[in-house]
Amino acid sequence: MESRNPSFFEQTLPDFPALLSGNPSPEEVEACLQLRGEKAEALRRAAHETKMKTVGDKVYLRALVEYSNICRKNCFYCGIRSGNPEVRRYAVGRKEVLEAARFAHQAGFGSMVLQSGERQDEAFVAEIESLVEAIVQQSGGELGITLSLGEQKAETYARWRKAGALRYLLRIETSSTELYARLHPVDHDFRTRLDCLKALRDTGYQVGSGIMIGLPFQTTLQIAKDLLFLRELDVDMVGMGPYIEHPKTPLWAYRGQIPSWQGRYDLSMNAWAVLRLLMPDINIASTTAIGSLHPKGREEALYVAANVIMPNLTPFSERKEYFLYEHKLCIEESHEDSRENIERIIRAAGCRPGYFEQGNSLRFRNR
Ligand code: SF4
Repeated sequence: MESRNPSFFEQTLPDFPALLSGNPSPEEVEACLQLRGEKAEALRRAAHETKMKTVGDKVYLRALVEYSNICRKNCFYCGIRSGNPEVRRYAVGRKEVLEAARFAHQAGFGSMVLQSGERQDEAFVAEIESLVEAIVQQSGGELGITLSLGEQKAETYARWRKAGALRYLLRIETSSTELYARLHPVDHDFRTRLDCLKALRDTGYQVGSGIMIGLPFQTTLQIAKDLLFLRELDVDMVGMGPYIEHPKTPLWAYRGQIPSWQGRYDLSMNAWAVLRLLMPDINIASTTAIGSLHPKGREEALYVAANVIMPNLTPFSERKEYFLYEHKLCIEESHEDSRENIERIIRAAGCRPGYFEQGNSLRFRNR
């Protein structure tokens, strides 16, 4: 990864909340991302204090079901890309999805996420629509539903919203069109992604996006621009995390050009802190990828900035087939272990679980 030596903050530390809630330049944000040691601690502490003052100490739980690893796309970083012939493809059965939803509701998780590889065929669209309706009905509307099902037509987003989905997560991965083009085949278009995000906003979803941190060909300045771009997009929630390589992907060939695990961890943690200071009232997820890099990753992300966590309720038989990257967490946990483990992580971060609450985005509510 290329990086630049910051000349900022060498003598005294700035007032991070004042700097980042104003109009920082990309170079100033970059300098924050590059802080290490005590200076990084100061940045993260400032983010923690801002988090406590805005969204508070509650962490909302989103039960994650990785619904299917069938995908029409071929992103160069993704283990379940259509071009990987070694993946056993699956779709979780309707009964299992509804069982997971029942478990989540009874356990007080408050919300559920249906995530999948991208399909646009009518059978898929109709099945998701029907599942969303069934989950809403089964939980008496108490379980908030987030979808993360890729790029779709505006009519499809509208159908799923009408069925009862509240939130949609569609990551941009990067705001650089050049880098986007190096991460995807030619028929994957960054403009389409932005059009989808606009359609989601127009349809009334709480809109989430996110980026990957520590990619080959990515600069720290580019990550700074990405974070500013997320603010420009005015997203309600963010799911971002470190890039972790997968051996059956084209990007594996460039693994010598990415930061060490520790480097990606430090950069990601600073990015979380910067994001919380740039956008104090959004929902930010403590994602599985950071926990896969470091055993205390999800806990530290919750302390610094995050207020959402996603216990994995994908059935065991399918869980290991949703293998996006190496060393992915939660492949062996049972639902109960997952609940206990998640509560332990939340408490260790000095936070409280927001059981039986949907935990909708404050930014969305205030818009
Ligand atoms: S990142 Fe998403 S859209 Fe791209 S190949 Fe993987 S599952 Fe499919």
